[in-house]
Amino acid sequence: MHEASIVSGLMRILLDHAARHGVRRIASVTVKVGRLRSVEPRALIGCFEVFAEDTIAEGAELLVESVPIRGRCDDCGAEMEIAGFVFRCDRCQGGRITVTSGQELYIDSFEATDALS
Ligand SMILES: [Zn+2]
Repeated sequence: MHEASIVSGLMRILLDHAARHGVRRIASVTVKVGRLRSVEPRALIGCFEVFAEDTIAEGAELLVESVPIRGRCDDCGAEMEIAGFVFRCDRCQGGRITVTSGQELYIDSFEATDALS
């Protein structure tokens, strides 16, 4: 399953990062997910809960922040948000768009509770 492999990768990074900072317990995790990733936030949260079991992230809240798709027109240089997966320039109607955001998938931040100082 798509979301499971994503969460598995994110979890490895998260636990590694937490261990290096002496975090004992993770309260919440914020991930940024670009719309082009076609990730279903609810599925991601469900997978996270499963993967977090028996780790320091058990019971942590996963906050999924969606990053809109943005692009730049190769013809006129206009920058725009791309809605509904229509890759066409607002200004010159050109169809050559370079995607500049929307493919993100990373841990933006996490909150620790009871961290060792
Ligand atoms: Zn254009």
